[in-house]
Amino acid sequence: DNEKQTLGFQAEVKQLLQLMIHSLYSNKEIFLRELVSNASDAADKLRFEAINNDALYGNDHELKIKVSFDKEARTITISDNGIGMNREEAISHLGTIAKSGTKEFFGKLSGDQQQDAALIGQFGVGFYSGFIVADKITVETRRAGAAANEAVRWESGGEGDYSVEAIEKASRGTDIILHLREGEDELLSSWKIKSIIRKYSDHISLPIMMRKEEWDEEKKETVLKDELETINQASALWARNKSDITDEQYEEFYKHVSHDFQAPLTHTHNRVEGRSEYTQLLYIPAKAPFDLWDRNKRSGIKLYVKRVFIMDDAEQLMPTYLRFVKGVIDSADLPLNVSREILQESRDVKVIRDGSTKRVIGMLEELANADEQDKKDKYTTFWKEFGQVLKEGIGEDATNKERLSKLLRFASTHNDNDEQNVSFEQYVARLKEGQDKIYYVTADNYKAAKNSPHLEIFRKKGVEVLLLTDRVDEWMLSFLQDYEGKELVSVAKGGLDLGQLEDEAEKKEHEETESSYKDLVAKMKEALGEKAKDVRVTFRLTDSPACLVADEHELSGNLLRMLKAAGQ
Ligand code: ADP
Ligand code: MG
Repeated sequence: DNEKQTLGFQAEVKQLLQLMIHSLYSNKEIFLRELVSNASDAADKLRFEAINNDALYGNDHELKIKVSFDKEARTITISDNGIGMNREEAISHLGTIAKSGTKEFFGKLSGDQQQDAALIGQFGVGFYSGFIVADKITVETRRAGAAANEAVRWESGGEGDYSVEAIEKASRGTDIILHLREGEDELLSSWKIKSIIRKYSDHISLPIMMRKEEWDEEKKETVLKDELETINQASALWARNKSDITDEQYEEFYKHVSHDFQAPLTHTHNRVEGRSEYTQLLYIPAKAPFDLWDRNKRSGIKLYVKRVFIMDDAEQLMPTYLRFVKGVIDSADLPLNVSREILQESRDVKVIRDGSTKRVIGMLEELANADEQDKKDKYTTFWKEFGQVLKEGIGEDATNKERLSKLLRFASTHNDNDEQNVSFEQYVARLKEGQDKIYYVTADNYKAAKNSPHLEIFRKKGVEVLLLTDRVDEWMLSFLQDYEGKELVSVAKGGLDLGQLEDEAEKKEHEETESSYKDLVAKMKEALGEKAKDVRVTFRLTDSPACLVADEHELSGNLLRMLKAAGQ
């Protein structure tokens, strides 16, 4: 219908608005980056829809973004000729938050402004960041393909509600009009707006245009001319030469594609030629997203074909265990009308995916093996945030298993703390004389692992044991039998053979002890009956009187507990 309607924001939107206005004020310039980023996304969406429907362009093929301001009215306007929105879209896109992990996010807010500001940055604020500087936002939008009298005006003061009504709009796309709050007048200047755009939005591949400004000798002031000028470089960042891109530009581009506020840990940017031709610009975030464990989570890879945006979350381009990677892949070979179904089957896609996987692993190796402290610290951060996900790769990616196993980090009896920072390589370098195996224990948590009675004999002999306490560990270990020929052995499995670590005199002593307890063992077996498969004299324990062990060929105690907990 065409009536003017007043609607309430979703509760989460109200909460977000409140928080954002207060906690992000010191960062207020980011509103322009967010709105320009949305305008650019809107152009991408139109280009994509128009692949199969060229009529959507009408007579306006030149996609661009225009930023203007009005000193008298005290407004800033960001206009695009992208996809636009119809009434339903305006209501659902600007009145609710559709992001996955939204509930978890709001559950994490503490009420402490500083803490929450950091969280909000991570969540991404998007369109609503306009309310940091505006006390009213008017959106006038007309969807591509809709008639002039089918346009919509959405308006809100950023408190509890917003209105929508039908209007006429002469051209396709969206105008976002910010009515500035009291005291924000410094934003009403060409110089100020240009410098913000150059700082945050230079990487945007569409031209961002503003009216030219010129010094007027008679009036003794600068005046705006009708002529427009482009104020960004307006070429796809990933298509430029590495040497022409600054660190800041890489960083801002990351924020644009990832909707993250924090700088990434690292990136890799390559043009690949050969069997398949493509460009990849891939980033590793510094912080795990809220929905890292969400099975329906969107992947972070945008697919382009020869600079034309094709789709977000092209999950076929990255294996699941690298789902935290963000960035862009631009293929020169795929057809423009490629669909998700085609992606699934495509041999080109498989080549790209394999190549990208190797690049990401290479990027992680570079951090993990670096001598520089800051890179090492980055790997530590990476492991804390994404280590558990990377472990999935041991089971999922047989081709790269060996490289991945070198990237694993564990807590260990060597360091005697819960930090996961010991690699297999370090473990192997510390092997005891005569030790040819890698020992580990699995448990629900660090404390249980470190206090395991199974460790006693190893501590006594000074043999290091890895302490594995992540949920995925048991599963991962079922795919990892050895590391560089050294068998991985659980200290909790029966018939533990300490091999060369046991000397001859000890062996003899053990045999004598065993035979002297023969009768006792037989009695205990009888007493326990069905409850125990076997009773043995052990030399593993130094302080505890007894312990339970799993049969060599059976599931370990920890896995049994996990399966029970899962109701199996
Ligand atoms: P995000 O960009 O992360 O999706 P935003 O809060 O920035 O979140 O924007 C919310 C949604 O509003 C967008 O996903 C889009 O559907 C819609 N939107 C915002 N700005 C525009 C625009 N200029 N043109 C078309 N749609 C827009
Ligand atoms: Mg956005």
